[in-house]
Amino acid sequence: MHLYIHIPFCRQACHYCDFHFSTNISGKAAMVEAIARELEMRQDYLQGRQLDTIYFGGGTPSMLDNRELDLLFNQIHKYFEVAKDAEITLEANPDDLTADKLRTLAKAGINRLSIGIQSFHEPHLRYLNRIHSGREAEVCVRNAQDAGITNLSVDLIYAIAAESHNILENDLDKTFSLDIPHISAYCLTIEPRTTFGNWLKNNRITPIDEEFAASQFELLVSALAAEGYEQYEISNFARNGKYSRHNSSYWKQEAYLGLGPGAHSYNGTMREYNVSHNGRYVQAITAGQVPATLEILSPEDQVNEYLLTGLRTKWGVEMGKLEQLSHGKFHALSAATLSSYTRKGWLTVENQQVYLTESGKLFADRIASDLFMTA
Ligand code: SF4
Repeated sequence: MHLYIHIPFCRQACHYCDFHFSTNISGKAAMVEAIARELEMRQDYLQGRQLDTIYFGGGTPSMLDNRELDLLFNQIHKYFEVAKDAEITLEANPDDLTADKLRTLAKAGINRLSIGIQSFHEPHLRYLNRIHSGREAEVCVRNAQDAGITNLSVDLIYAIAAESHNILENDLDKTFSLDIPHISAYCLTIEPRTTFGNWLKNNRITPIDEEFAASQFELLVSALAAEGYEQYEISNFARNGKYSRHNSSYWKQEAYLGLGPGAHSYNGTMREYNVSHNGRYVQAITAGQVPATLEILSPEDQVNEYLLTGLRTKWGVEMGKLEQLSHGKFHALSAATLSSYTRKGWLTVENQQVYLTESGKLFADRIASDLFMTA
């Protein structure tokens, strides 16, 4: 089973980001106390099953200090059994990862870092409003490796407006030179409630050029393949099987408990959504209430979620599971759509398992939504 802890603070707001976070960090200590309390309140959610992965996401969990990390780990070990080989990931920004901090993280039990680098190109970092420099990104990777945390992932963003593909090629070359086993590469998207969203509304920037984005994606996929990275999910690439075990659990529909404001939990048939508001979260937890709304998933919801996440992975989706989730209705309703995409060369079906082809990967969301079931 899996545990996610959301740390909702950042030093500054990146222009593209619509995650839940606050740049007012005065409430960080009270927030960590509340999450520690929620760990106790939610100890039964996973029914005593052992934790195979723990993921500190955000926000910027690398802002946690020693005392805060100790408090959270003490609570985790008090209320949950953690597997000996558990993957314990912390999302980090390069500016936080000093040699001292990395030693603290390793000592606390963090054995994997997901580092938000996004680009090494200074004008792009400033355009995205990242807080760190390309040089800091490079140094922090070497510091992490020196501290013994070699299970590293870095995030990169592509389709940032540019005259040519040179900047992306340089970002990839720099990443390859750092010997990083896992890379997550995301297309820049412009979300409404972000600085970029406002700039787009005010015509200060133009929408992402879809053709440019598709050509950058193709370049990225072939460069990563040439360096021995396996594309095991559309945006995620790993060498030597160093997949993100935590994220893979989401794509495989395994149960997880999510703690902190804005975090979700899932037990196979129901999702719970913690309130995305720091003050209201702390207030409710202090009063002994978990501020979550529940959503019971209908068979259609379960099928659609499985299609949306599973089709993006190298494991594809199992026809048997789709039949089981849909109470035997999926094949009858979707056979025509399945065979039209198979004829088009976007899907393949082997041994009752459905996969996207290379060309289908460019249209993953559209294909999944065309296969969606409606109530
Ligand atoms: S991208 Fe990461 S660091 Fe930037 S605002 Fe969002 S959560 Fe914070």
